[in-house]
Amino acid sequence: YSIVVHNFNAGPSILPKEVFEQASQAILDYNGTGLSILEIGHRTPLFQEVVDEAISTTKELMKLDSDHEVLFLHGGASTQFFQIPMNLLNEQETAAYLDGGVWGKKAIKEAKLYGKVEVVASSKDKNYTYIPKGYAIPADAAYFHYTTNNTIEGTQMHAIPETNVPLVADMSSDILSTVMDFNRFGLIYAGAQKNIGAAGVNMVVVRKDMLGRVTRPLPTMMDYREHIAAGSLLNTPPVFAIYVCMLTLRWLKQLGGVAAIEAINNRKAGLLYDTLDKLPIFRPTVAKEDRSKMNVVFVMDDEALEKEFLAECKANGMVGVKGHRSVGGFRISLYNALPLESVRVLTELMNEFALKKA
Ligand code: PMP
Repeated sequence: YSIVVHNFNAGPSILPKEVFEQASQAILDYNGTGLSILEIGHRTPLFQEVVDEAISTTKELMKLDSDHEVLFLHGGASTQFFQIPMNLLNEQETAAYLDGGVWGKKAIKEAKLYGKVEVVASSKDKNYTYIPKGYAIPADAAYFHYTTNNTIEGTQMHAIPETNVPLVADMSSDILSTVMDFNRFGLIYAGAQKNIGAAGVNMVVVRKDMLGRVTRPLPTMMDYREHIAAGSLLNTPPVFAIYVCMLTLRWLKQLGGVAAIEAINNRKAGLLYDTLDKLPIFRPTVAKEDRSKMNVVFVMDDEALEKEFLAECKANGMVGVKGHRSVGGFRISLYNALPLESVRVLTELMNEFALKKA
């Protein structure tokens, strides 16, 4: 018999099955070369074609114009928290930040090391269970930073803010999950380990006119312009992580691109939220209009029931359903690679559980 695992992990998380298969094969024999992907030089034509395809597929999927560059960098999204202000914010200038969740808060902390920060709005008063609205972004801000999807709290911005200030967005947990005008951003960044690949690499999309404005000297490895000039090969890059990104991006393109995955993501999130709304035993924690399609967070009012449902999930092959320690309850991550079938299995279990407890 086969054991089926439904993987709702928040990150690192599920990737397409064919990506796992292709990546495994490439460790043993990369494209029939007799060499493992782990033993080829990063400056060989063999790897150059991997980077080239990762960059060109990103540009295609995001429909990027020629002003935007795509980079694959080390250090996780957390490195971008400081690399961004280092490159974009002079000490006497102000950057505007939205305090919409735990990750955005961390980005604010790092930005303060490099310049002035104006927090334009915060939803901390209600544990980040909604997206702040109706705030003004100062017109002279160097940039406006926000998190498109709050992975821990389960809220998501469903529209791009209207402003002439350059937009900088942390898209770690919803990049390439929904159609949007990516060209409107001055800079986009995302840790790969949710929607685009394996942990160990970051995707950064930057509009070239954002760069070269700061007066401080930048360490070479921190300077986006150096990485652009070197085509993401300034030093030894995370070769395997970039390879897995390339495979995942190729998978998304073959599936029909962002619009196609958005349709599937809408069905998954729709099914889960409909089930939650129908069953009062489960209580979603965030404002309805700000619900995330990537991370669905809910609690139950009785801790013993939560334990029981958690055990049922486990017994039925579901992993990664436990909520973040700061929120409790449950967090169901519905990233691009998660099949609709996994959501069906989960919602059936929820229905049965609610019936049993009624
Ligand atoms: N931003 C968001 C929205 C995240 O979800 C995470 C990680 N879960 C991070 C930043 C931090 O990413 P990393 O661990 O790659 O530094």
